[in-house]
Amino acid sequence: MTVSAAIRDRAESLRDQIRHHNYRYHALDDPEIPDAEYDRLMRELQVLEAEHPELVSPDSPTQRVGEVPISAFGTVQHELPMLSLGNAFSTEELQEFHRRVLDRLALDDQAELIYSAEPKLDGAAVSLLYEDGVLVRAATRGDGTTGEDITHNVRTIEAIPLKLLGSRYPARLEVRGEVFMPKAGFDAYNDKARAAGEKIFVNPRNAAAGSLRQLDPKLTAERPLDMYAYSVGIAEGGHLPSRHSEIIDQLQEWGIKVCPERRVVRGVQGCLDYYENIGKRRDRLSYEIDGVVYKVDSLDMQEELGFVSRAPRWAIAHKFPAQEELTEVEAVEFQVGRTGAVTPVARLKPVFVGGVTVSNATLHNIDELHRKDVRVGDTVIVRRAGDVIPEVASVIQDRRPKGTRRVQLPKTCPVCGSRVVREDGESVARCTGGLFCAAQRAEALKHFVSRRALDIEGLGAKLIEQLVATGRLKTPADIFQLTKEELSQLDRMGEKSAVNLIRSIEASKSTTLARFLFALGIREVGEATAAGVAAHYGKLANVVSATDEDLQGVTDVGPVVAARIKAFFEEQHNLDVIARLQEYGVEWAESDPEIVAENGPLRGKTFVITGVLPNLTRDDAKDLIQNAGGRVTGSVSSKTDYLVAGEKAGSKLIKAEKLKVSILDEDALRSLIAS
Ligand SMILES: [Zn+2]
Repeated sequence: MTVSAAIRDRAESLRDQIRHHNYRYHALDDPEIPDAEYDRLMRELQVLEAEHPELVSPDSPTQRVGEVPISAFGTVQHELPMLSLGNAFSTEELQEFHRRVLDRLALDDQAELIYSAEPKLDGAAVSLLYEDGVLVRAATRGDGTTGEDITHNVRTIEAIPLKLLGSRYPARLEVRGEVFMPKAGFDAYNDKARAAGEKIFVNPRNAAAGSLRQLDPKLTAERPLDMYAYSVGIAEGGHLPSRHSEIIDQLQEWGIKVCPERRVVRGVQGCLDYYENIGKRRDRLSYEIDGVVYKVDSLDMQEELGFVSRAPRWAIAHKFPAQEELTEVEAVEFQVGRTGAVTPVARLKPVFVGGVTVSNATLHNIDELHRKDVRVGDTVIVRRAGDVIPEVASVIQDRRPKGTRRVQLPKTCPVCGSRVVREDGESVARCTGGLFCAAQRAEALKHFVSRRALDIEGLGAKLIEQLVATGRLKTPADIFQLTKEELSQLDRMGEKSAVNLIRSIEASKSTTLARFLFALGIREVGEATAAGVAAHYGKLANVVSATDEDLQGVTDVGPVVAARIKAFFEEQHNLDVIARLQEYGVEWAESDPEIVAENGPLRGKTFVITGVLPNLTRDDAKDLIQNAGGRVTGSVSSKTDYLVAGEKAGSKLIKAEKLKVSILDEDALRSLIAS
């Protein structure tokens, strides 16, 4: 049965439409129709072709993925060799290149040579042969003379048209370009592979090259590959423009994707400006590049310049400093951050990478260290991209010396010797030293003196850092031994401020148990939890001796918080600091357990405070409620009993109204407490 002309026309029309939309989508990045409409066109064509197999042609957009894997790669002889480019690693080398070009063309120094400039993509070079506009063969660069036939895989890359658009293309046209994996696709692919326990790609270049060298095109089709064309090889039976930049524009009109960052620049200064501009934006580009390429734009001049030892004299790659280098791991050490996080760091044999000398690289956390299995003595790939902290990308397993050992998380803090703990399900290990640990000291001290803790006015962040650096402040207890005399000797600290500071230190000694517990900076123990614990136990000694189970009986204290509180008071250092603080006069009123909460008029009630109250600060209102046995939390939920709302109350008020939570103003709060 022959296919009717109408069906044949419909199939042809669908193919043209799909090619056009492919072009808009991939080459121009400017789709005209929604994806769903594109899918409908594609489905209609697939149905037509399934019903009438004689309609199927190899250049049909439905024929990207072949059914059967190939058994081996064929070889392709490049009719015109695929050359490599010379490199310039510095401004001077680029200027020398430019001078050589001018000399050969017998132009003087003042002549303004036009260059075509484009990013140098970090992917795999390919040759695409179109005959009468149809893609008939794709090959790798190989050694430049002989490549591998990768037609079956290249057909799966949607950015590469199976058929050219328009009509005036040469009968035989060889397009050359770079197949690459965009950064986002690379990251997504690796995330998926990691989750599935499969092999990940080291970098986007390996990803592109590896994907093209698959025997089964279905595997290639799953990889997020893209392509930009950058030149033409064979061009027979047709005309091309006389400038490189115009040829690239022409390729785009035929439906081939080209780099949107390409520019035409003037002279060597134009090249350098372009290099600087792309360099600044390098990290924000959606694909990896390792430099830029300049080509003399005039084809006549290119011909005159010719080649030297398989590289064109009219083009050069201006490389960025390498972002990856090999080096050796001399040690793996553990650093303690200001919040107690214990982070593995690789000490490296110094190596020049990403434009700087790198001798340390982060290993992020213990899981990452074990996943990469970095060992002392290993040869590793260090990556430093942009301003990002250098990291160990991977280990070269083949170069691992004998007798290396897996690195383990230390049991005690390398700074203070306290226990290092790691909660279940957490990737970060932490030093339990808290106030005792020098690494955590400054941060802990800042918290200790903050407004909602001991509230020591005048003891600011700068001053604390200065006093920690000189070793004068080791624990919060040391604050209470500071003298007016020594303070007035410090930078930017006069006699008067020293007197004021001593006065506020004195004033801070009289506090509440809730504030004191909060000031200790136990992880996960915020103001509300500290207040709850203080109310529940009434006396510090009761908190210190509380069991895990006991602690979990406090409202809002779960197993994690209970464990943190217990771990804190199990450290003798912490108890010593507390004893000294009390010795120096820090005091609070103690009560019998739960007396306040049992007897207060607001017992068992939960409050949230929002907006500006007429006479009370937020902290005052909080103290008022807590002293009356109520609890104050940060956000409105179905468990909130009252919202205390002042002026400029926002989303919390709306939420409270929605949940039908009682809303109080300041007066209403006071009368509730007095009731
Ligand atoms: Zn420590």
